[in-house]
Amino acid sequence: MTSHFTPMAKKTKTADPSADYMYAIETNALWRVYKVGAHLEVPALRGINLQIEPGHFIALKGRSGSGKTTLLNCLSGLDQPTSGMARVLGRDLMQMNDRQLTNWRREHLGFVFQSFGLLPALSAYENVELMLRIKGVRARERHDRTLYCLDLVGLRKWMDHRPYELSGGQQQRVAIARALANKPQLILADEPTGELDSSTAREILGLFQSIVREEHITMLMASHDGLVDEYVDMILQLKDGQVAE
Ligand code: ADP
Ligand code: MG
Repeated sequence: MTSHFTPMAKKTKTADPSADYMYAIETNALWRVYKVGAHLEVPALRGINLQIEPGHFIALKGRSGSGKTTLLNCLSGLDQPTSGMARVLGRDLMQMNDRQLTNWRREHLGFVFQSFGLLPALSAYENVELMLRIKGVRARERHDRTLYCLDLVGLRKWMDHRPYELSGGQQQRVAIARALANKPQLILADEPTGELDSSTAREILGLFQSIVREEHITMLMASHDGLVDEYVDMILQLKDGQVAE
């Protein structure tokens, strides 16, 4: 691995050559067809075309089964599209092998999930800091960055608490701090408010909105929650694996 700590993506070019792109996410005729058994084929994505500029907060909406999770997985390289093109943060994912994809994800992407995904034995601080250990960041920098991210989500006072000592909204804030730890250029979130009551969901959406603005991150958030509309810059509606008008 080369540079461990490139600066946060800004409108100006950074030292990271892969930051030199017009679209944070670009797809062309992207298909994902799941084979189930010997005969059944489930087309989860049916020709997705996207051009998403950096620095935007985008909602990916659509009913359950419309392909939201599949699309997020294809954009992070966790799943392999059946055909088409996917270029994310300037990298053509189809041209990368598994090891390259893993490193690229670790360097540039952040993830937030519906069920938080925190490690129960670790404190809020340790959950965030672990990401930086995995990345090989040195102790001093790890400490500073972890505190910075916990501050961003308003949880510094709670940093020694374990997940079970925190509310759902606080746990999701820890997960957001963890997603921010590696200074990602893109955050992918899958139903991040799905387990929260509506006032907590609003807090989290407001937090996402300010993070996208202030940290200049692109965020693609799958959700079928009507609340999200007023917080995002754009809504992509998925219907049966296609972007609906
Ligand atoms: P959403 O996240 O919008 O609820 P998904 O992306 O999970 O939708 O699913 C889209 C479609 O693909 C659904 O019909 C689902 O049943 C199918 N699907 C998802 N994952 C698999 C899989 N691993 N194998 C077979 N079919 C799948
Ligand atoms: Mg889903």
